[in-house]
Amino acid sequence: MVRFLSVFFICFIAQNQVLLPIHSGDRKDISKVQLTKIGQFGLMRKARPKVQAHYHTGIDIRRPGSNYESENIYPISKGVVISKRTDGPYANLILAHEINGVKLWSLYEHIAGIEVQIGDEVQPEKAIARFMNKSELDKYGWQFDHFHFEVIKVKPQKVKPTEKNPGHYYNSYSLVCYTLNDLKKYYFDPLDYLSSNLKN
Ligand SMILES: [Zn+2]
Repeated sequence: MVRFLSVFFICFIAQNQVLLPIHSGDRKDISKVQLTKIGQFGLMRKARPKVQAHYHTGIDIRRPGSNYESENIYPISKGVVISKRTDGPYANLILAHEINGVKLWSLYEHIAGIEVQIGDEVQPEKAIARFMNKSELDKYGWQFDHFHFEVIKVKPQKVKPTEKNPGHYYNSYSLVCYTLNDLKKYYFDPLDYLSSNLKN
């Protein structure tokens, strides 16, 4: 019985483990996550044509090395793909998770080479996409030399997929966070979330 319980316990922990979304020597070491200059969570983003000023709802994670061809991006935990955008520099994936009994969603944006489909179950050991490579950055702009990562508390907003983006079923709340209360209602600070859950 004790043996059964300990096996059960180990499986339970393994299923819920949280790892960094990037390839690094140790995917449980938060110091491996380096942000771009303006990549911190909660910074104010200035208004631009058609977009009101809003808070930065995630973090902008720098490429962990100098691999400009195939630097992988991984899911932070076991989950299911619920939305997939494939429109150039705004390509993104949203995954649904249940981590230690808590439902939450993670988003990975400005990504390329997406390797998963809607409904796929993902595991943290297997890459879902990669950072943009040199020729994609030359095409879309080197300001995208990072990926934007969010940890979302509230189920993302349903949207109608288009012909160009048939897997785009959900939007995050990235462009509708105008107050700190909005930010707190919809998002975890990804660095805080990772720091406290990597240990489990
Ligand atoms: Zn960002």
